[in-house]
Parts: sequence; C-alpha cells; structure tokens
Amino acid sequence: MVYNWSIFVRFWRVAHPCLLCGAATAEPAGLCAPCRGDLPRIAHPCPRCGEAMGAPSALPCGRCLRRPPPFDELVSACAWQAPVTGFVGGLKFREQLPAARLLGHLLADAVSGRPPPDVLLPVPLHARRLRQRGYNQAREIARFTARRLGLPLEPTLVKRARPTPPQQGLHARERRRNLRGAFELTGTLPGKHVAIVDDVVTTGSTVGEIARLLRRAGAERVVVWTAARA
Ligand SMILES: [Zn+2]
Ligand SMILES: [Zn+2]
Repeated sequence: MVYNWSIFVRFWRVAHPCLLCGAATAEPAGLCAPCRGDLPRIAHPCPRCGEAMGAPSALPCGRCLRRPPPFDELVSACAWQAPVTGFVGGLKFREQLPAARLLGHLLADAVSGRPPPDVLLPVPLHARRLRQRGYNQAREIARFTARRLGLPLEPTLVKRARPTPPQQGLHARERRRNLRGAFELTGTLPGKHVAIVDDVVTTGSTVGEIARLLRRAGAERVVVWTAARA
C-alpha cells in the first residue's frame, strides 16, 4: 500500500495553532506570519558582538573596536523582550519544549546566507543542573537549528567542568573570574569553523570564555548563534 505522505505532511503542518494568538498556521516554527513579524529584533546590530547600535554600520561598535570579543561574530534571532523572554523562560523553567522548535527555527532563519560552520556546539549545563532540568535548553534549540540547516551538532564537545554561581549582578571582570576553568573540551578542532549556540546572551562572558577555549583548541573561526540577545 502506498501512502500519500505529502497530504499527510500538509495536514500536519496546518493543524497546529500559533503559539501566541492561536490562529491556524502552516509555519513549521509554530508562529503565524503576523506574530512572527512582530517579534522584537535588535535594531542595527553590531556586526561583531550583535549589540544594538544607533544606526546601521558595516564597522563594529566602539567597544568591539577597542577590545574585540574572542568570537568573530554574534548573530541573534531576537531581542530580549516579550514575548521572546516568555518563550525562553517557558523552555528553561516550565518544560515548554515547543519553544525550542520555535527558537531553533528563528535562529536558522537569522543565520541563513552565512557561511555554514563545520559544527554546532550548544553551551553546556553542569551535570547537576542537567539532572534537575532533564534537558539543556541550548541543546534543544541547537537541535532544531542543526536539523533545519543540515549541519552536525556536537553536544558533548564542550563540557562544564564545574558549576558556576549565578552571573547576575556581577561586573565584567567578576564574571570572567567566575567563569575561569568552568568549561573544558573533550577534543580538538584544528582549522574548524564552529558555532556556539545559546538561548540568551547578556554580557557575552560565557560564550566568550568558550570561544577562547575553542581557539586554544585550534578553531579557526568561532561564531556565536543565540536565540536572544539582551
Ligand atoms: Zn499568531
Ligand atoms: Zn560590538
């Protein structure tokens, strides 16, 4: 017996309601086109660190010019505002795993047209946190991005060597000290182009620390792909 899978797939694709307004949508990411168009984006992101700049510019922001970050480029799908904060919070604290599909798809769209990296590396959780939560939200997002783009995902290459105290309220220098030795690699990456994937980047100190480690392990190009940028 021959099944007509295309009809089945089309039915499945229109069957789900938009995660925000409930309207039926064929979008695989889970949002209807108007809700998706209304998502907060970073206006005029710095081509290096992804932070908002006052006007479009091909040059990096002043801070990147003075002190370039340890990664080559940061691309963010969205700005850290509602409803994106709600999607990430739901994914992290309320087991709302469909948000991972949405954020993974948004991230894949945001990086489309860029040279594809050799591998995607999600920011790891410490084993204890992973046991508590049951999954790593960055890995869940990266899974969908990798699948959409047809790129390999290597979820265990970067490991958290020790738990780190919360970063909130710390200054840049304290954050770096807090993170020193927090990560380790289980392999080398000679000449590789790699993308670190995270759910949300605030100061960039965590992804910066991982980027430094990847460079020491031989990575040639290190980019950061994040669902949201504060
Ligand atoms: Zn909608
Ligand atoms: Zn910058």
